[in-house]
Amino acid sequence: MNVLETFQPLMAIATTPKAANLLQPLCSGTDTKIWTPEVWDDIPNLQAYEGSLKEHLTSHWSKQRAIVICLAMGAVVRLVSNLVTHKDDDPAVVVVDANGQFVISFCGGHRQGADQLTQGIAALLNAQPVITGASASESWPGLDTLGLPFGWQRNLGDWTEVSSKVAQGQSVRLIQTAGSSLWQKMLPQDHPLSETSQATLQDDAVAVMTVGCDIDSSSSLPQVSWFPKVLWVGIGCERGTSAKVIDAGIQAVLSERCLSVDAIAGISSVELKQDETGLLEVCHQNQWPVQFFPAEALANVEVPNPSDIVRQVVQTPSVCEAAAIYSAQQQDGELSPSPLRVQKTVHRLPGEPGAVTVAIAQSQREWIGKTGHLSLIGCGPGNLDQMTPAAQTALTQVDVVIGYKLYIDLVRSRLRPGQIIEGSQITQERARAQRAIDLANWGLSVAVISSGDSGIYGMAGLVMEELETQGWDGRAPSVQIFPGISALQAAASRVGTPLMHDFCAISLSDLLTPWDVIETRLKAAAAADFITALYNPKSKTRQTQLTQAQEIFLAPRPPETPVAIVKSAYRQDEFRQCSTLGKLHELDVDMLTLVLIGNQSTRLYENWMITPRGYLGFR
Ligand code: SAH
Repeated sequence: MNVLETFQPLMAIATTPKAANLLQPLCSGTDTKIWTPEVWDDIPNLQAYEGSLKEHLTSHWSKQRAIVICLAMGAVVRLVSNLVTHKDDDPAVVVVDANGQFVISFCGGHRQGADQLTQGIAALLNAQPVITGASASESWPGLDTLGLPFGWQRNLGDWTEVSSKVAQGQSVRLIQTAGSSLWQKMLPQDHPLSETSQATLQDDAVAVMTVGCDIDSSSSLPQVSWFPKVLWVGIGCERGTSAKVIDAGIQAVLSERCLSVDAIAGISSVELKQDETGLLEVCHQNQWPVQFFPAEALANVEVPNPSDIVRQVVQTPSVCEAAAIYSAQQQDGELSPSPLRVQKTVHRLPGEPGAVTVAIAQSQREWIGKTGHLSLIGCGPGNLDQMTPAAQTALTQVDVVIGYKLYIDLVRSRLRPGQIIEGSQITQERARAQRAIDLANWGLSVAVISSGDSGIYGMAGLVMEELETQGWDGRAPSVQIFPGISALQAAASRVGTPLMHDFCAISLSDLLTPWDVIETRLKAAAAADFITALYNPKSKTRQTQLTQAQEIFLAPRPPETPVAIVKSAYRQDEFRQCSTLGKLHELDVDMLTLVLIGNQSTRLYENWMITPRGYLGFR
């Protein structure tokens, strides 16, 4: 998922050739064009605006999701000052300075995502992101954005007032009764939001934030509310019941139980109702997703109010209660059974045809309402400079980052407040892959990070394998793989040009591959005169494999064959050494080392390892 795709329609603007060149990375791999006063011949991806920039901006302002402009801040202030209306309506505006050193979140930082876009563009342009919001300065997620990854709906509460209390460090009471609490784990200990159970409201809070499906207006303090979509409304109705009756029935149940309409995840019924016009109309008007289940499936659901009469007509003793419970259970998957929040009630309206029955179940997991995404990211050998801008940008855009703790620390400066970070031990690779897929299946966008290239002895393979096992359809969740510099390239670059001719990589780890397979490959590589990169040469528990490999290579190759070891390439404690095959067993090799064995033409020259490009003249 490209950062710019998430922010469409996006308008990039440059007023000089230098600025237009600077913004070029925004166009790569996308349809983005840069608007300029004229089209300069030697610069690609330009289109000219007519009239003044002010006129151009005025006519496009309300249609854009985001505007990226390379211009002095003062000029931008003057250009947009008359256009700015409200933070819920204005586009995200991001300013890039004329030298491309800084990317500034200019307006729409939270709700329009300008802060997130700024992070992404900064990574793409290799520039410094400048984010001036109070929560960003504390590395806190904005109160008004923290539910967006989970598809929560925000009410019209006093967000500015409550956010400013948080920014001032005043205590804000959090009451969360539904929806994911993953975000809470990311709050630093000193965050002013503190969770309180409703029973103990004795605290010094000056404002309240609720997260749940209930409308709670009992507090006299300034309040804001998020509504996770956890309510599954089951509907049964007589044939020909009008949309008005169905709508009124749903609204009546909601208001009687003080449940928010914003917490509705979807509507469900029995397959027989697939063509019920009134029901389809209500769902369409409210943009509620609707599902219809076979009567046999509903007949198996245990409900509080089964009816024999209903069974005789539709082959299931319950429609609304069973459909509500069934859809909530589908959402929760293997989680525990979903309770019925509201039992069946019947509704009619005088003068309107038909009658509707309504029941509501609550799922534990909210419905996010978007297709999840997996970004499988290679971080390079261990230094941010060696990680591609595309990979860095992708990292700034995801909801969740999963990886081995060491690599999370490596990319920490690229992470955004509000992102969910899950670091784990090095050994838990399969668990990491499963966790990432679970979150992506739910609807989150998840980055799984690996050292080097994620597709070379990395996490990408595990994730793809696991997706396949789960019967993935190849599309949802969507997957994008971001290549990285692998250890063999990194190590080679530190010792010379050893990989200048045909080469291969062999991992000496026999944890997932039987040793006899590894041995066969080592023999073949040695015999075929491949330059060979040995990954995973040694670990605390695997000490003998490297010596065995050395013996195998010494059979067809002379002991003078050049060898290099590079430990922790591009990291602070990097160590490298050139030597020979005969002395390989004497070298200081550990699990962070890559071993390079030269071919018959490889030479050592002034402590550099050189393999010639071809064999002409060398054989
Ligand atoms: N996906 C990684 C490889 C992971 S396997 C990549 O493409 O590079 C782990 C092995 O890679 C280590 O045992 C070591 O042999 C090698 N390795 C990873 N990073 C390294 C580095 N910075 N320097 C030297 N070797 C490294």
